[in-house]
Amino acid sequence: MTGADWADAVAAVSGLPASAPVLLACHVNPDGDALGSMLAFGLGLRRLGYRAVQASFPEPFEVTEPFLGLPGLDLLVPPAEAVAEPALFVCFDASSADRLGALAGRLAAPSVVVDHHASNTRFGKINLVDPAAAATTVLVAGLLDRLGVPLDRAIAECLYVGLVTDTGSFRYEATTPAVHELAARLVATGIDVGTLSRRLFDTRPYAAVRLLAEAVGRTVLEPSAARGLGLAWTYATVDDLARYGQRPYALEPLVDSVRAVAEADVAAVFKQVGPDGWAVSLRSRGGTDVSRVAVALGGGGHRLAAGFTGYGSLDRVLDALRTVLDG
Ligand code: 5GP
Ligand code: MN
Repeated sequence: MTGADWADAVAAVSGLPASAPVLLACHVNPDGDALGSMLAFGLGLRRLGYRAVQASFPEPFEVTEPFLGLPGLDLLVPPAEAVAEPALFVCFDASSADRLGALAGRLAAPSVVVDHHASNTRFGKINLVDPAAAATTVLVAGLLDRLGVPLDRAIAECLYVGLVTDTGSFRYEATTPAVHELAARLVATGIDVGTLSRRLFDTRPYAAVRLLAEAVGRTVLEPSAARGLGLAWTYATVDDLARYGQRPYALEPLVDSVRAVAEADVAAVFKQVGPDGWAVSLRSRGGTDVSRVAVALGGGGHRLAAGFTGYGSLDRVLDALRTVLDG
């Protein structure tokens, strides 16, 4: 990413009249970085005086519990109500156009892709894509700075949610001095870090705790998988969710338990998403490029955290994964 890319992105925004319809989007099933970066940018555009800003993401159009208190949620519209021909389309944390569902059609408009996935296909007219960035929110903070938007508390809260989510609470490799410097700026606006963290990471219904325990309890270790580096995996079915009365997002923390298995370089969690589909989360302790693995299986992500959706029985999807891990 060059200075020219930044300049192009700034020009794409600042060339717009205040009444121009601007559509923001992020990837399907948005996480903290997707939602946080999109809402922070939307709030920033408002601060600049843009009056027709919408934000959306693909169906299922549902903001999950941890994000319900975020500033800027009033920018959200269901994808069916998103403006058909925006003057500018900006999308966040999406590694490829298919992650935008039906909103991918808006790529016919002038577009800016803001993302940090190694597997990003650079599908925008302007691409602010930096795989070294710890989170998409880092890039959004850079863009807001260049547009002259002051960091207020609401914007900071959205940016912080993305930063703390994608760095695993400042634990992962991409947590550079610049990440902590950005965090310091955000915290200095007065955001309530303790309350935010508790809501994001440490609050779930009793039934969800029991569901997670059941799924963690059936973790399988395959020491010879992944070229002998080891694979630990578990799964959760639609029926598991129904028995505990939980929504799919209740399974998000599952992979963090499985990735702790010391004897396995690769962790995989298979989350059933229909009679025949499995959303698979992959993590590596460092010896495997799971982004490459996920791309080979139709998905994407980062070197140490990636995912894909597999079709067929669990055994079949598991076998496909084993094969790629051995390849
Ligand atoms: P998670 O396992 O937390 O859902 O996702 C880990 C990483 O992999 C995230 O960066 C996410 O964007 C990416 N990822 C997860 N599932 C998919 C998928 O089906 N397709 C693509 N392209 N990326 C995915
Ligand atoms: Mn991200």
